[in-house]
Amino acid sequence: MTIFLLIVAFVINLVLCFKFASIAEEKGHEPKGYFWWCFFLGTAGYIMVAALPDRGYYARSMKNINGDSGKKPTTDLAYEERLLNNGGWKCPSCQKVNPESVTTCRCGMPKC
Ligand SMILES: [Zn+2]
Repeated sequence: MTIFLLIVAFVINLVLCFKFASIAEEKGHEPKGYFWWCFFLGTAGYIMVAALPDRGYYARSMKNINGDSGKKPTTDLAYEERLLNNGGWKCPSCQKVNPESVTTCRCGMPKC
C-alpha cells in the first residue's frame, strides 16, 4: 500500500513538474532547469516558478521578429537592429531602442 501511494505521489509530482516547467517557459525562462527545481523542491519549486518575473513579452516579440522560430538574438545590438527593422524607434533623448508598441520611452520621452 505504501509503495502504491509513493508511486501515485511520484506521478502527481512529475505531472506538476511538467506543468510548472511549461509555465516557466511561457514566462520566458529556461524550462528544463525549473523542471528539476520543482522535481526536487516540490512546493518550494512551484512557488519559485510562480514568483518568476514575466519575460514573456521579450520572448514573444523575438518569436514574431524571427519568423516564429523563437530563436533569441545573440547580442543586444542584433536585438535593437531587429526592433528598428520591425517598426521600432530610437529615443532621441537617451538613445534607447524601443519596440513599436511602446509609446513613451523609459526616460519619459514620447514617441514622435
Ligand atoms: Zn529615452
